[in-house]
Amino acid sequence: MAALLVKGGCLYTADAAAGVVPGGAVLAVDGRITAVGPDALAAAPADAQVLDATGMMVLPGFVNAHWHDLFAMRLPFRGALRTPHDRDDKPAFMALGGDLPAVSVAFDSFTDRIGGLTPDEAAAIARYSMWTQLRTGVTTLGDVGSFNRPDALADAALHLGMRASVSTWASDAVCAPGETRFRRTRDADTLLADLDALLARAAADTTGLLKARPTSVYGVNMTDELGRGFAELVARHGVPFATHVGALRNEYDASLVYHGASPVRRFADLGLLGPGFTAVHTAFVDDDERKLLVDSGVHISVSPAKYGHAGESTLTETRAVPELRRAGLEVSLSTDGAALPVPGMAEAMKAAYQVVNEMYADPTEVLPTDALAMATRIAARGLDWADEIGSVEVGKQADLVLIRADDWRYLLNPRPLEGFLALGGSADVDTVVVAGRVLVRGGRATAVDETRLELDYLDAVGSFSVRCLGIPPEVVARMTARRRENVEG
Ligand SMILES: [Zn+2]
Repeated sequence: MAALLVKGGCLYTADAAAGVVPGGAVLAVDGRITAVGPDALAAAPADAQVLDATGMMVLPGFVNAHWHDLFAMRLPFRGALRTPHDRDDKPAFMALGGDLPAVSVAFDSFTDRIGGLTPDEAAAIARYSMWTQLRTGVTTLGDVGSFNRPDALADAALHLGMRASVSTWASDAVCAPGETRFRRTRDADTLLADLDALLARAAADTTGLLKARPTSVYGVNMTDELGRGFAELVARHGVPFATHVGALRNEYDASLVYHGASPVRRFADLGLLGPGFTAVHTAFVDDDERKLLVDSGVHISVSPAKYGHAGESTLTETRAVPELRRAGLEVSLSTDGAALPVPGMAEAMKAAYQVVNEMYADPTEVLPTDALAMATRIAARGLDWADEIGSVEVGKQADLVLIRADDWRYLLNPRPLEGFLALGGSADVDTVVVAGRVLVRGGRATAVDETRLELDYLDAVGSFSVRCLGIPPEVVARMTARRRENVEG
C-alpha cells in the first residue's frame, strides 16, 4: 500500500461544515483519504511519503467545471497575432451584449477546423493546455466543448494524471447575419454518434480519472434535433449536461428570432433541465426562465475573473446569478477558456469574493470559505463527482493543493485563506496531489517534462496554424523563435 502523509499545514476541508484545522494532517492510502487531523499522524505507517506543509494552506484540489481547450487558436483568436500596443482595441464578438450572429458563425466553424488537427498536434496541444490548469491547482477539469479532439483531451488527462470530464464541440446550426431563422449546418446524428462513443469510453474507464458529459456550446448553435439527442444520451448514460445559456445580453432576442423560444425555455422543453443540468453564466433570463431554473434545481457555473477581459457583464448587469444563489441554487466557480491562459481558479475565487460582496455591501455574502467551496465541493456536484472529490474527508480521493502562506502577506493573520484572496494567486500554488500522487512540487512538474510539453505545443500550434489557418510560416517561426531559444537554453 502506498501511503501519503501531509502534515503541519492549515487545512481547509471544504466539507459541509467548512472545517478549518490549523496544523492539520491528512493521510491517504492508495490514493484515498483514510484519516484527517490528529488521527492521521497516529495512523501513518513508517514508510509513508511525507509532505511537510508547515507554513502552507492545504486545500482540496480545485474543480474547474467549465473550461475549454482553445490553445490551438493561440495565434489568430484574440491571441499572439495582436499588436503589443492596446490603444486601438475595439470591443467585439462577446462584448457589449454580444454579436450573436458572429458568435454563432465563429463557433460553428470550429467543428470542421478541429478535424484539421493531426492526432499528434491534438495530443501536444491538449497536454500543454491541461498542464497549465494542473499547474494552477486544478485537479479536475470539466470540458464544455473544446477546440480539440475529445480523445486527445482524455488521453492527456491520463498522461498528466489529472481528472477530466470530457465532451465534444457540438454545433449544427448558425444564426446567419440578416436572416430570421437558424440555418442547419450539419447532421445532428453524426455529432451525437461521436458523443455516444466518447460517453462509452468514459463509462469503461478504470482509472477513476475520466468522465464525460454532453455539452451544448450554445443554444443558438443547437437545433431541436440535436437537443433531443442530448436528452436521449443524458438519460441513457445517466450523465449530467452543461451548456452556456443566458450568457450574453443579445442572446435572448437572437434565440426568439432564430429558434422561436427563449434560451432556458428551449432547454426546458427538450427535457434537459434538472439537478444534472449545469447552466453556464446564466445572467440574462426572464421571470419565466428564472422560475424554471429554481424549480428544477439546476447547477450554475460562473467565471467571474474572465468577464471583464471578454467584455461580458455577467455578474453586475443583472445580478441574476447572485440572486439565484440566494434563491438556493448551487453556484460554482470556473475559469472558462480562451486562446491565451485565462485567470485561474484562485482568481475566480478572488473575483467572486470581491464582486459579489461589493454588490450587496456585505462581506459575509461570499465568505472566503464559501468561495473555496464554490471552487471545490460545489463544483464537484455539478460534475456529479462529489462522492469522490471536492472536499478533504475520509473516504474521498486524495486530491489536494498546497499553497505557501508564510510571507509578509500573511503576517499576524489567523486566516490564511482570507490573505490569499487579498494578495495571492494561481502562481502561488506549490504542490498539487491527485489521488495521492504528487504531480507538482515547489511549483514544478514531478511526473512530466514541462519544457518538452511547451516545445511540443509550440511545434503543434505552429504547424496547425500554417496548414489549416493560413498563417504564413515565417510569421509562425518569428513568433515562436524567441521563446524556443529561452526554453532550449
Ligand atoms: Zn465557456
